[in-house]
Amino acid sequence: MSDCIFCAIAAGDVPSARVYEDERIVAFLDIHPLRPGHTLVVPRQHAPRLSDCEPETAAALMRATRRVTAAIHDAMDTQDATIAINDGPSAGQEVPHVHVHVVPRQQGDGGGPVHALFPDRPPQAQADIQGLAASVRSRLEAAA
Ligand code: AMP
Ligand code: ZN
Repeated sequence: MSDCIFCAIAAGDVPSARVYEDERIVAFLDIHPLRPGHTLVVPRQHAPRLSDCEPETAAALMRATRRVTAAIHDAMDTQDATIAINDGPSAGQEVPHVHVHVVPRQQGDGGGPVHALFPDRPPQAQADIQGLAASVRSRLEAAA
């Protein structure tokens, strides 16, 4: 997409602190890092959300994320990370080109888990959970 910043970075038209690239994927340091080493792993092909990606691209994204995360830990002397996708505007996505955030984590770094997004979550009835599981499962079985 012509006005997409991550397409431009992937094409090399906008500079970045690139750490990894292959046929399908590029990875570069976030320009406003949450923590030192905060890295974005990005498919070259434009797609807003993970579910818009080709299956092979999504697989390549996770393969690259795994490799990049290991290298970040080696470089930063860390062991843990928050690995996350803001998948769509309601989830806080600001750049509408799917990307995986890899944020190195350490004890006492002041951050929280994904569960801190909703600290006061209400309890959900077991019947509701089972009903929703059946609804999703039937769609996956129909698509198989
Ligand atoms: P999200 O809210 O998940 O869409 O995150 C977008 C991320 O992209 C933010 O963490 C930004 O700091 C980062 N970002 C935006 N523009 C650039 C850029 N030119 N180079 C590197 N990171 C960027
Ligand atoms: Zn794009």
